[in-house]
Parts: sequence; structure tokens; C-alpha cells
Amino acid sequence: MSAPSLLLLVVTVLSFGFFAWHVYRLWTYIRVGAPDSRFNKIPQRLKGIIVHILLQKRMFKDFWPGAMHLTIFWGFVILTIGTLEILIQGISPSFSLLFIGEKAYSAFVFSQEFFNVAVTLAILYAYYRRLILKPERLRNDLHGSLDALFILFLILYLMISNLGANSANLAEKVAAGEAWANFDQWCFASRLLAPVYSQTLSLDAASIHQAFVFWWWSHILVILGFLCYLPFSKHLHIIVFLPNVFFTRGEDRNRLRTLNLEDEKAESFGAGKIEDFTWKQLLDSYACTECGRCNTFCPTYTTDKPLQPKKLILDLRDHLLEKGKARNKGDMDEPVMKRDLVTEIIGEDVIWDCTTCMACVESCPILIEHVDKIVDMRRNLVLMHGKSEPEVLKVFNNWETHSNPWGIGYAERAAWAEGLPVKFAKEHPDAEFLYYVGCAASFDKRNQSIARAMVKILNEAGVDFAILGKEERCNGETARRLGNEYLAQNMIRENIEVLERYRVRKVITTCPHCFNTLKNEYPEFGGNYEVFHHTEIIAKLIEEGKIALEKPLEEIVAYHDSCYLGRYNQVYDAPREIISRIPGIQVVEFERSRAKGFCCGAGGGRMWMEEKRGSSRINVERVNEATSLSRKPDTIASACPFCLIMMEDGTKVTNNTDISTKDISELVAESMRVTE
Ligand code: SF4
Ligand code: SF4
Repeated sequence: MSAPSLLLLVVTVLSFGFFAWHVYRLWTYIRVGAPDSRFNKIPQRLKGIIVHILLQKRMFKDFWPGAMHLTIFWGFVILTIGTLEILIQGISPSFSLLFIGEKAYSAFVFSQEFFNVAVTLAILYAYYRRLILKPERLRNDLHGSLDALFILFLILYLMISNLGANSANLAEKVAAGEAWANFDQWCFASRLLAPVYSQTLSLDAASIHQAFVFWWWSHILVILGFLCYLPFSKHLHIIVFLPNVFFTRGEDRNRLRTLNLEDEKAESFGAGKIEDFTWKQLLDSYACTECGRCNTFCPTYTTDKPLQPKKLILDLRDHLLEKGKARNKGDMDEPVMKRDLVTEIIGEDVIWDCTTCMACVESCPILIEHVDKIVDMRRNLVLMHGKSEPEVLKVFNNWETHSNPWGIGYAERAAWAEGLPVKFAKEHPDAEFLYYVGCAASFDKRNQSIARAMVKILNEAGVDFAILGKEERCNGETARRLGNEYLAQNMIRENIEVLERYRVRKVITTCPHCFNTLKNEYPEFGGNYEVFHHTEIIAKLIEEGKIALEKPLEEIVAYHDSCYLGRYNQVYDAPREIISRIPGIQVVEFERSRAKGFCCGAGGGRMWMEEKRGSSRINVERVNEATSLSRKPDTIASACPFCLIMMEDGTKVTNNTDISTKDISELVAESMRVTE
């Protein structure tokens, strides 16, 4: 073996060894996390790899940056094959991938040239974005910004040096009077550059060879340097994003992990220290690309509140790295080992600001799961420290004593139905559907109108249904999101007991929060029902001709997507379908709608907290968005009682009381022909 080959072998082994050792070090930091089995649903997981990694679907929500990233990704994959060939050739000069056949090799050579050029252009565009366009979401601290620019420089240099080496190789052949091989013809860019050495720079054969050696070695050394730098850079995501996407919760993201409160061995509940997160939650933090998409869609970030989802993930990552390092050194007296996660690392204001709207999770191209982490920290604050926002402690008390957040007595739960033709499950236990009214439509005066409208619609369509009346309990959804898993599980079990007593199998809800928890979370507690949101039922009744919408409503209507109906359960079309069937209505779309819909500010128990932080309130931001539409709506329609309350409040605060706020069921009841 020649001296340069031996040198390359040594440097390569050392570089890979250094890289592997640091990846192992990072693994030791996350393996202390709580167990979480993610080996189920393998076909869906593989599909996720295709959609989110090979096609990078979410990146294309922003087309040009998406195209740039896809080019760099595929360039990385394809050019790595060429890099391996070059590396092996450096160690064993007779090696070549030519054994795959000349035609296949020519295609390979072309692919290398193509991606060399494409990635170069993509990197130049990336520099243009970062240095000239400077999109807000890419704003980083100095270290993060320099890291990004440095990595871009390394990739650009790899492209330039590869083209430099290829073109010098072709020029050298010409200078030596050698003919190019057939596959050389496919080096379309290097062929154009080759004459630069002899014609523009007037180099002789020996100098061209030296140029080749320079490009070749610098290319290889930058690659190996890049490899060594990766574990310390945000570009760690290059290796972490694959397992992170594969092990995502996917569709299960709409239900919270259930805490085993009876676990006698458990020393604490929720996440009070970094090790309390699961290994997957910790892996998430390594995968963050710092792209800032989560911030862009986050209602708390856009209203300048302390919670910024990107910062949350990066703060967790920094703490994980710091603590992991100290732990591996065995230095348990390090101050970092004693720092409290839920007060010192992540502020309580950050933890309570979240509306659990899922916009961050929906927008993250790496499928990082922010909401679970926030709820786990809330659980620790509530269950282990007895802490919450002061207003919430009162609401917990209301749930405990009256099983509703308003604190109104059980006896009043069905007061809204007085005088209406509604049957109770007690007297009609065999009803096909149970209309689970929920606390908001039962107790909130404004929202009781939704329950009445629903009764009118179901009766008109001849649907066989009943309600639980005084036997209905809060379903625990909001208490759960507020971290009070103990209270939530009690309410869930009480509800299931009642539902099972009446052998309920089909449930209608008018609240997306009830809908989500009954549909997605109750099965884990033994409550298995077919659950429908009222918009799904109404759309079906219209489709089947069981209700007729006749009275024209001359209104411009903007439909506000509820997060728990849309992002959590992908019900986007049914409400729009209903509105489009009401005569006279003209529909306008919010700029941020469907999967990009902007929260009303009430989810995750925020409904029960004062919104004191930030530059403006989230519902105000949403109403302002409605008023800035090209055609100002007369009505903001929603399909969620919490959204309705928030939108109505927003119109008052912004002096837009000329905009009315209505539930879809109210619009339908208004327009519907009623059979006498
Ligand atoms: S769930 Fe919504 S409010 Fe919470 S961090 Fe994500 S985007 Fe922000
Ligand atoms: S969490 Fe996801 S969306 Fe947010 S900055 Fe990181 S990679 Fe981007």
C-alpha cells in the first residue's frame, strides 16, 4: 500500500471512529429516557419514511425552500455513493464501480454531475435566503446562525471540489494525449470546466495533476471533517431524522399517553426531570433542524408569549446534552444534575401558555412531537408539585365537586332541554345514538343554543337519540390537558360506567374536545364507541335528504377550523360542505385555514386561564384576521363551543360586534325547513 493510501486509511478509520464514538455518546444520553414501545404499525411507519423523508411532503408547504431541501437531501444520498467510490479508490486505487456495467456506470456518472450542479444551486439559494431574504423563522442565536452558514459552506465546498477534481482529471487526460472513456462523456459540467486548466490558466500536465491532487484531497478531508463535526452541529438531523420519522406517534398523536397512576414503583409522575421523558421524546430534540416552521404557526409565538416551540425543543436538547455529559463523567454534584426541569430549564409560563393546538407538530418536517412533552411537564407540576395557574386550581375544584368546569350543580346539566322533545337514556336506553352534550353546551348560556339547535335537527331528521341528562359527567379531556391526569382518569371511568350501563355504541358530540377524547382516548380505558362530530352527522343528513335547507341566509360566512376537529381528526370538509349547502351564504376562507388553521386560544385548558402574557390575545389575532379578509365576513362560523366563546369575545374586544358568531348547527337550524 502506498504512503498516501495508508495515510488516507488511517485518517478515514480515525474519522469514522470519532464519529461513531460521539454518536454512541449521544445515544447514552437518551437511553436513560423512559421506555416507549414504537415497533407497532410497521407498514404505516414505512409509509411515513416514503412521505416525509423520500418525498419530504411537509417541506413543500413552502415550495422553494422545499425544493431546495429535497435537492440537497437527494444530492446527499446520491453523492454519498460517489464519495464512497472515491474513498475506496484512495485506499485501493484499482477499485471502481465500473463492475456494474458501462451503461449503468455512465448513468451513475451523470447522476453525480447532475446533483453536483443541482446541490450547488440549492446551496446558493440557501445562502440567498439566509443572508438576503432573512425569513423570520430562520432567526437564530449567533451560534446557530454561524453553524448553519458553516455547514452550507462545507457542502458548497464539497460540490466545488468534486467538480474541480473531475474537470482536472479530464484536463489531465487531454494534456497527456489520452482519450476520454465513454462514461467521461457524461460528465457534462466537468467537460465544460476542463479547458479552464489548459486554456484559461495555461497549466501544463504536471500542474494540472497537482490541481487534481489538491481538489481530491481537500474534497476527502472536508468530507471526513464534516463527519467529525456532525455530532456537534444542528445538522445532526441528517442522521437522526430517519429514526425520528420512523418512530413517530403518527395518527396516535391525537391521544395523550396514559399514566399508570397505580404504579407503586413510580417515584414521580409526568416529566420533572429530563430523564422522565421517553427515549423518543429525547430523540426528538436531536432531530430538530431549527427551521422554525413550528414557530411560524404557533399562536403563542405569533402573539409574543414566552412559549416558542422551537426554543422549547432546543432548550430541552441543550439541557439533555449538558446533563448527559455530567452523568457520563459520574459527576453527580454538578449543578446541572440538580436543576429542576419544570421551573429552571423550562419556565412555568412556557408550560402553561400552550393551547395544545398541534400546529407545531403538524408543521414540523421531522415530525417532532411538542404537545406530549408540554403536557408531561404540566402533569409533573400538577401531580407532584400541586402547581398550576391560580385560576385553574379553582376549576379543578369545580370538576371535583360538580364534574364540570363551571361549578354548576349536577341537577342543572339538562336545564337547557326543559320543554324540548328530548328523551333521556334512562327512559330510552335503546336509542341508536347518544347525544353527549358536554359541559359547554350544557352550562354555558350562549352555547346552550347549540344543544337546542342540535335537538331540532336530529328530531327533524328522525334520528333515534337520547341524552344522559344529570347522569352525564365531564369527559375529563380538559383536565387531562391541564396535567391533572388523576382527576381526568376518574372522570373518564365514571363516564364509561354510565355509557356501559346504557350499552351505548354510537355517540354524537357537538364539541370537538369531547369528540376527540371519546373517539381516541376512551378506548384505552375500555370505552369503545363509534363517535361522530355533529358536523359529520349533519352533512350526512343533508346528503340523505333527511333535512332540507330552504331559508336563504344572506350572510358572508368565514369558517374557523377548530384544532381538535381539524388537525387532531382531519375533519375539514364536513363543516364546509354544510355551509355550502345553505342557500344565500357566501363563503370566505381565512388565510390560515384547514391544517394551517389558527387556534382560537382556548384549547389545552387555556379557556380557563387569563391570557396575560404576550403582545395580544390569540382570539383577537384571529378576529383581526377575519376583518382583514378581502370581504369582511358577517359571521364567523365554528363547530366548537370553545371557539365560539373565544370568537365572540374577540369580536367584542376588537369592536367588531357587527360580526356575529354562530355554530354550524345554529346556521343549519336557522335555514332548515321544519315539518309541523
Ligand atoms: S401546540 Fe400550539 S400553542 Fe402549543 S406550542 Fe404547539 S403551536 Fe404553540
Ligand atoms: S421543532 Fe420541527 S419545525 Fe420546529 S424548528 Fe425544529 S425541526 Fe423545525
